[in-house]
Amino acid sequence: MERPEISVVVPFYNEIDSVAALYTRLLSVLGSTGKPFEIIFVDDGSTDKTYEEIKKLEDVRAIRLRRNSGQTAAMGVGIKEARGDIIITLDGDLENQPEDIPMLLHELEKGNDIVTGWRRERWQKQFLTRRIPSKIANGLISFVTGAKLHDHGCNFRVYRKKILEGIVFSGDMHRMIAAYALREGGKITELPIRFEARKFGVSKYGLSRTFKVLLDILAFHFFYKYARRPIHFFGALGFMSFFVGALTSFFALYLKIFTDTNFNRLG
Ligand code: UDP
Ligand code: MG
Repeated sequence: MERPEISVVVPFYNEIDSVAALYTRLLSVLGSTGKPFEIIFVDDGSTDKTYEEIKKLEDVRAIRLRRNSGQTAAMGVGIKEARGDIIITLDGDLENQPEDIPMLLHELEKGNDIVTGWRRERWQKQFLTRRIPSKIANGLISFVTGAKLHDHGCNFRVYRKKILEGIVFSGDMHRMIAAYALREGGKITELPIRFEARKFGVSKYGLSRTFKVLLDILAFHFFYKYARRPIHFFGALGFMSFFVGALTSFFALYLKIFTDTNFNRLG
């Protein structure tokens, strides 16, 4: 079999009604690129018949995770299996439009290592409960990681595979991939994509996601900023406690020598 140039990786968790439609649309749009491709569908331990649905499809590399491991882990497994030099990831719920793939690929060819989607139209209706938390989270990730994107959580992306080597897919770390790649010297660009809210099934996340995102930011910060120089973090803490300690002992000495304070009988 010809080695694929493009590998498409899609994670599915209870998306039985979207599998076949997504597959058909992917086939047609990937065929139009003229490049050899492969499609990798990862079933993230679905409790419905998503996997059976995937198995019905021709020429799809089907992977099944025994338990539900989360979107990041599922994507990581698929990406590890991918053979193409170009990797495309997108959601399995039809919120991303496969027809946008050529546009993203075109942008990659301009010398980028990652082209990432920006779901500009998302959360139009849930302004307070979704749009604002999402804006804050994206702003924070941009600030801490230095990767200035509007939509760190968008999974619709095109990558050069080499940029993903060495990335650990843990937590909800897929939000940090762009930031990580940037640190490794990769070139990233963001492109507005079409977004259609899902018609089938339900979202697997709620507002609690925002807190997990914050924890992942911290993890990112410490892993990549201080991994090779932990003394700069712990040393700073050490200095701070040293100075606080020194100040309080001098103050105690001052009280002892120049005032009548009796440290045996305080109060
Ligand atoms: N997903 C997954 N494992 C999970 C949660 C989600 O594989 O534990 C998949 C899900 O089936 C979908 C994609 O990840 O294809 C994005 O999930 P979802 O649509 O729930 O997220 P949202 O669009 O609400 O951010
Ligand atoms: Mg979705």
